[in-house]
Amino acid sequence: MKFDELNLLEPLLAAVRDLGFEHPTEIQESALPLVLAGRDVAGQAQTGTGKTACFLLGTLNALLQSERPEDGSPRALVIAPTRELAIQIAADAEALTTYTDLKTTIVCGGLSWDKQARALQDGTDIVVGTPGRLMDYERKRILKLKKLQSVVVDEADRMFDMGFIQDINHLFRYMPPKSERQSMLFSATLSAEVMRLARRHMSDPVEVNVAPEQLVVEEIEQSLYHVANREKVSLLLGLLQREQPQRTMIFVNRKVDGEALTWRLNHNGYESVYLSGDLPQKKRLKIIEGMKAGKIEILVATDVASRGIHVDDVTHVFNYDVPQDPEDYVHRIGRTARAGASGKAITLACEETVMSLPAVEELIERRIPVEFADDELYIPDRAGRFRRTKQVYTGWPPASLGTSHKDDDDDDDEVPSEATSDEKKKRRRRRRRRSGEPGAEGAPPEAVAAAPAE
Ligand code: AMP
Repeated sequence: MKFDELNLLEPLLAAVRDLGFEHPTEIQESALPLVLAGRDVAGQAQTGTGKTACFLLGTLNALLQSERPEDGSPRALVIAPTRELAIQIAADAEALTTYTDLKTTIVCGGLSWDKQARALQDGTDIVVGTPGRLMDYERKRILKLKKLQSVVVDEADRMFDMGFIQDINHLFRYMPPKSERQSMLFSATLSAEVMRLARRHMSDPVEVNVAPEQLVVEEIEQSLYHVANREKVSLLLGLLQREQPQRTMIFVNRKVDGEALTWRLNHNGYESVYLSGDLPQKKRLKIIEGMKAGKIEILVATDVASRGIHVDDVTHVFNYDVPQDPEDYVHRIGRTARAGASGKAITLACEETVMSLPAVEELIERRIPVEFADDELYIPDRAGRFRRTKQVYTGWPPASLGTSHKDDDDDDDEVPSEATSDEKKKRRRRRRRRSGEPGAEGAPPEAVAAAPAE
């Protein structure tokens, strides 16, 4: 099937051509005709399937055929669970609206509150946002939902995991009734709770599924090493030397391990940057941009921090830990082999994470081929003792960027609006500690030393 067979309006087809999309992906082929026909759709599809272009093209096609309200109220809303995903969706919307006069506004924490409020007040067509900030603006009557024609809830299962369901139900209360708007929902799994949400806010939704086994792209070469926890760094160093990867993402299960691993890699000659969910938004955006621009070759990340990030041409994904949630495995390795390219996904299973392996293999319905590491594959970790000199070690800015990018520790003052009160308390403590104020708990960072690798 070709995109021109989908009855999309010419300005959208032109943008699709610019993006280099030749054929609709499976979810686009099955769900887009339904969306274009005005049906409500509940789609089971993960990142990497092309779901974003699917709901955006459907929405934009409808907007191009309707009148913009005089008061500039938005006509379409996309709700995403994380800022990164919202930013990515907004960027995709910008790309797809290149040949139209439709305006997209992003609404999420960590970016200027006033700027976003002004953009909403100036009038917009499409709003893409995270639940917390959307609620915030809605309550202040800055975001008006009464003229919405189209609503998308993306990664609905994550909304439950992250406790956003009350916020979403609140937002729906201020929209036109479900019979008077088109609603779409996408989720990695269409669990009972997700379908309850769908039935509550959607009119007779059609279910569309992309089977999980099709998510693990054939082009990804997967392999697995069984390794002792204390030897993981050495094995990773050996694998990096053997593979000479161009653009790499290394996934860790725990924030603290991501920080320590990044420090070790940098002290073994592998320039790498750590993307933590705790980092201020500005810094995270800089890191993601650096990766996209090819200035960062190795990005270390946790699943939460990396969700929704699209970086093309990732050649290697390393699972430094087997993820606890099997779906994260699919998300992680889906970062490579995008859009027909080939890629490698190498997993290290140690005594602490190997118990998660059976669930991963059950989900992907195959055994990951096991490889054995010869002694030569282990390269001694030269980083020595890990002494934390900073509260969060990120490796940013990488030395190769020179000093033009100042270290953005001062960005910490910007507390994302969705930070939990615990996170906010931690940040306040950290700032007090830095300024030597009383009330700063815990040992000074210099005193925090982790065990050596070996
Ligand atoms: P998503 O599942 O929405 O996160 O999209 C995954 C990636 O696939 C993004 O980088 C999209 O730009 C890309 N993509 C979406 N639709 C197509 C298509 N029809 N052909 C090629 N790439 C696509």
